[in-house]
Amino acid sequence: MSSKKKNSFFKTLTLRLTLWYAGLFGVLGLAVFLVVYFSLSANLKERSDKQLLHLATAVESLYDTHGTRAVLAEFQREAHSRGIGRVFFRLLTPRGTTLGTSDMSPWGGLKAGDLPTLKLTAGGVVFRTISIPGDQNKVRVITKRTANGNVIQVGTTLGDNNLLLEKYRETFGTALSILLICGGFVGWLMARRAMSGVQRVSRAASRIGKNDLDLRVAVGNEGQEIDDLARAFNEMLARIEKLVRELKDVSDNIAHDLRSPITRIRGIAETTLTGKQGIGEYQEMAAAVVGESDRLVEMINTMLEIAQTDSGVTELSLKPVDMRQIIDDAADLFLPLAEDKDLDLETSVASAPLIVLGDRAKIQRVIANLLDNAIKFTPAGGKVMVSARADDAEATIMVEDTGPGIPAHDLPHIFGRFYRCDKSRSTPGNGLGLSLALALVHAHNGDITVTSSPGRGSTFTVSLPLDTPPS
Ligand code: ADP
Repeated sequence: MSSKKKNSFFKTLTLRLTLWYAGLFGVLGLAVFLVVYFSLSANLKERSDKQLLHLATAVESLYDTHGTRAVLAEFQREAHSRGIGRVFFRLLTPRGTTLGTSDMSPWGGLKAGDLPTLKLTAGGVVFRTISIPGDQNKVRVITKRTANGNVIQVGTTLGDNNLLLEKYRETFGTALSILLICGGFVGWLMARRAMSGVQRVSRAASRIGKNDLDLRVAVGNEGQEIDDLARAFNEMLARIEKLVRELKDVSDNIAHDLRSPITRIRGIAETTLTGKQGIGEYQEMAAAVVGESDRLVEMINTMLEIAQTDSGVTELSLKPVDMRQIIDDAADLFLPLAEDKDLDLETSVASAPLIVLGDRAKIQRVIANLLDNAIKFTPAGGKVMVSARADDAEATIMVEDTGPGIPAHDLPHIFGRFYRCDKSRSTPGNGLGLSLALALVHAHNGDITVTSSPGRGSTFTVSLPLDTPPS
């Protein structure tokens, strides 16, 4: 493994999840161990105490009924049957003097003074845990006072309990190690499984180059989150693909639309350089250069305006605007143009004010672009009609014409930048008018739609929210 790969392996989520799982298993195992260990040791102690109390009570009642000799004989019998190294019995005076014991040879370190000779009331008991020098196991001792004031002591080594606890510790230690290894392995498997979807999406994503934007990541069955990730990624890819396609179209169009006027300007300049022209021809050529340059500047300005309006950079100077006024002004402005083309220009506006909160100049620009198109594309003898009315909470402005109409396959594209249905570009224009109109109307929270029947004309409908909707 190269050091770079090693480094990135240590940063992987898979490793982190594996460690988390192993850690979790470890902590849980340890918690279980501690709970079981402490309850086991408490249980063992309780069991020892019960046993001691049982023995002490038995020998006490023997002492009470049969006296010292009988009880001392019982000490020997009981100690031998249970194991002299496991249990001892003693009969002491209240001052601690030994009256008799079981075989104390394994309890060498135990002295009479080690044990409490308590001022117990008859039948009273006390439990103590004591250490014997030279013996690593502690001793649990019950001290019980008999009816005549003497004291019976029964002691038992805690060695058996310790042995059991030690065994338990050993077994659990092994189990915990196995648990940790299993936890780590299970964690690694689960983490790998959980991450496999993410890795699949990321592998697919890295395979998609700039020329394969139509590729998509397969939506698998690794879980809802991974499916959502794949879907979100595919949606993003679709948006990028659309943007790249649009960008390509726009740059193709820009290349074409900028190249044509520049080529024309160059042609004129060449003619002026090569031939000997009269002053009138030079003037004509200079005027043509000015015209072409103006068109270029206008196109660049329009492109900028669309971009700024779309991105929300342009600040609108919003004021109440009466759409009837806008329509009347536009009709006045375009009437001479319509008459020149022998077109009938009609207006029809509502009698009540149609107030829209908008930027007057921008709204005028929208209506002018639509009217300009209608007049430009409608042949002589045709008709252009502009109307404005209130529709619920909206002002609806319609620009209708009896022109050639727009082919159905062009309709979805005509608001795109530089799009022109006439591929021969025989009519003047740059294909930016409708884009700008749409951007401006969107900036006013409105919309533009178009319907058209080829051969019979087109209708562009602008809807803008009314400032004071009619009650
Ligand atoms: P331009 O008019 O400068 O070409 P526009 O963006 O205003 O650009 O219009 C885009 C295209 O939509 C036009 O080139 C034309 O083909 C079509 N179009 C727009 N308005 C009309 C109309 N009223 N009648 C027929 N075609 C139209």
